[in-house]
Amino acid sequence: MEIIIAENSGFCFGVNRSADLADEALRSDKEKYTVGPLIHNPQLVEKLEKQGLKVLTKEEALKVEDSLIVIRAHGESAEFKKALMDNGNEILDATCPVLANIYKKIIQKENDGYQVIIVGDSNHPEIIAMDSYLKNGIIINDETEAKNIKSEKALYVVSQTTNRADFYYDIANTLKENNGSVVIENTICNATKLRQESAASLSKEVDCMIVVGGFNSSNTNKLYQVVSLYNKNVFRIETVKDLPLQKLSEFKKIGIIAGASTPDEIIEEVVSKMDEFTKEDFMNSLEDSMKKIYPKDIVTGTVIDVKDDEVFVDIQYRADGIIKLDEMTEEEKDNPKDHFEVGNDIDVYVIKLDDGEGNVALSTRRVQGMKAWKELAEKFENDELVEGTVTGFNKGGLTVDVDGVSGFVPASQIATYFVKNFKKFVGETWELKIVSIDERKNRLVLSRKDVLEEELDERWDELEEGQVLEGEVARLTDFGAFVEVNGLDGLLHVSDIAWTRVEVPSDVLNVGDIIEVKILKLNKEKNRISLGRKQLLDKPFDSFVKEHEVGDIVKGKVVNLLDFGAFVEVADGVEGLVHVSEISWDHVEKPSDELNLGDEIEVKIISLDKEEEKIGLSIKQLEEAPERPERKPRREKRENSNNNRQRRRPERSAQANFSSDADLNNNLGNLLEQALFEQGGSSDFISENDSEVDDVIDDFDSAESTEENLDQEVVDEDIVTLEDEENLEESANDIDDVDEDEE
Ligand code: SF4
Repeated sequence: MEIIIAENSGFCFGVNRSADLADEALRSDKEKYTVGPLIHNPQLVEKLEKQGLKVLTKEEALKVEDSLIVIRAHGESAEFKKALMDNGNEILDATCPVLANIYKKIIQKENDGYQVIIVGDSNHPEIIAMDSYLKNGIIINDETEAKNIKSEKALYVVSQTTNRADFYYDIANTLKENNGSVVIENTICNATKLRQESAASLSKEVDCMIVVGGFNSSNTNKLYQVVSLYNKNVFRIETVKDLPLQKLSEFKKIGIIAGASTPDEIIEEVVSKMDEFTKEDFMNSLEDSMKKIYPKDIVTGTVIDVKDDEVFVDIQYRADGIIKLDEMTEEEKDNPKDHFEVGNDIDVYVIKLDDGEGNVALSTRRVQGMKAWKELAEKFENDELVEGTVTGFNKGGLTVDVDGVSGFVPASQIATYFVKNFKKFVGETWELKIVSIDERKNRLVLSRKDVLEEELDERWDELEEGQVLEGEVARLTDFGAFVEVNGLDGLLHVSDIAWTRVEVPSDVLNVGDIIEVKILKLNKEKNRISLGRKQLLDKPFDSFVKEHEVGDIVKGKVVNLLDFGAFVEVADGVEGLVHVSEISWDHVEKPSDELNLGDEIEVKIISLDKEEEKIGLSIKQLEEAPERPERKPRREKRENSNNNRQRRRPERSAQANFSSDADLNNNLGNLLEQALFEQGGSSDFISENDSEVDDVIDDFDSAESTEENLDQEVVDEDIVTLEDEENLEESANDIDDVDEDEE
């Protein structure tokens, strides 16, 4: 390793002079002070303080009397110095002669009518002191401020002694844009200029530069800026303790430059420390100080720099670590500056020891992943559920993100039912059960179905038949409504929605309705829940029978017409049957001959069956039955005669198909007339031809019997028999009448 010390390093003559005056002050018997640190070097200031040269603020100094006060190299205003002397103090003025010369010039130029412009830091003691000698001085420190100056006077421009030449002249020349006469005086201290030139020159020759000086020293900071222009490996140190030994071992040629306020002894310490270490010493030292770091380790490091797309981390290794954007977590990627702070300790995963540019490749994303795998493995062991967000899908199933780890839910494990459309799940967050986990193969398989099934089991167990609970109408079909109860789907059949007739569920319910339902039947194996709603409502039949009795006449509406009768709604949800035989005292072939759907009619209640919940109604009984002729003894004779005779059942012919009493009577009359005509009108023939009349009656019976059979399922047999008997009676009476006429 080669160490080169730049020419013109260390104390300038101005600082050197102030140090000599400080030594002189220390020999005085008076109390000794400086106003502010004598130079920008904490180590030297501390040393002087220990020797008796105390540091005061300006305010403190103005209270001191009869003491010795050293004015530092930066200088102070004339008023301040006078005030100190007025208090009986002795002054040792260490103001740098370079500055004293500048004071003279600017005072003179202002007196000559110039507007004096000072280019420098308005907070720096040197500039504050300089300005104090002017009546209307202007301080600027960048080109923007320079552009704003428009003066009718000629300008006289001076610089802070430590400015870089290019910086000063860029600003000073800008003043020419808006001002006619500008005199630019180069007041940059030659000592400063020489140091900056030496620093620039040496920076181009060496692998790295060390800039030594107080961290708050203006001229040292300027040196750092200069060397950084020509060398990318620059280290700023204040004392030997700050030497970056590990890093310096990488370089073969090292340059050292010290600021104007850096005592020679500090430079010597630095150089001698570096000299002590040969290359081997450095390496041994590094070996001792460095951690043993291997790829795949997780180590703790300190953030030393944060950029928009990378973060540098000191991991106590010979090279710094670097976290590239793609190795950060999702949150960190958005804005690294929000998540990393210089000085903070962080855990990092070592990807490789050299990323090709001399840095250790690090990752925070993988740290998170490794921690997540560990936690997932523990949850798998404990049979705990995890939360995952669906991030995508493929033919086999869904990809999910679980705490930064990518997992997979196979299609068969997505739900308790067959799933066809995977896309709709993307973005959803679910509770999942870990089916298998293998960090080495980066495989995490999960199931949502298991979770759902467990939930369903629990929900089923909470249900029982007869239970009444609230549910939400989920969807409607023509045959019923699916209602979600306790997280499960139940069917409310259309017939169980209400006691009144419901054509389709949508007439009564809407999707989203919250309704009260009763569980009628449960079948867990078939996953079926039958629900009822009307069972929770008052039964219209019960109300009706409470208020009505047989014989009451009520109003109703014809709601259904069948061959055997008409159903009439006599109250909401209450229907009764008007049998076809109860429609009229006359024979009615079928109800639709007399009634229409929707007809508003009056009916008489003729029966109430509370057990069967049936109501018998009649229309014809609203009126008295029409009177019938008294039955003649002849009927008895005919009946006896019929009983004793073997009845002949002829082939049924079209002629014998009687559709009404009138047809029957007409046919009977025709037969009788024909018989009388053929037998010469004798009444005896009537009795001899009784058998033919009976045959006609038998045909009638047969026809009625067929009708009766058709209606047998629903017709009150007694009523039908009565009807038949009445018809037969009428027929028989007609025959009797004919007999009487003949007689
Ligand atoms: S840097 Fe120049 S102006 Fe400042 S103290 Fe040293 S010699 Fe004087």
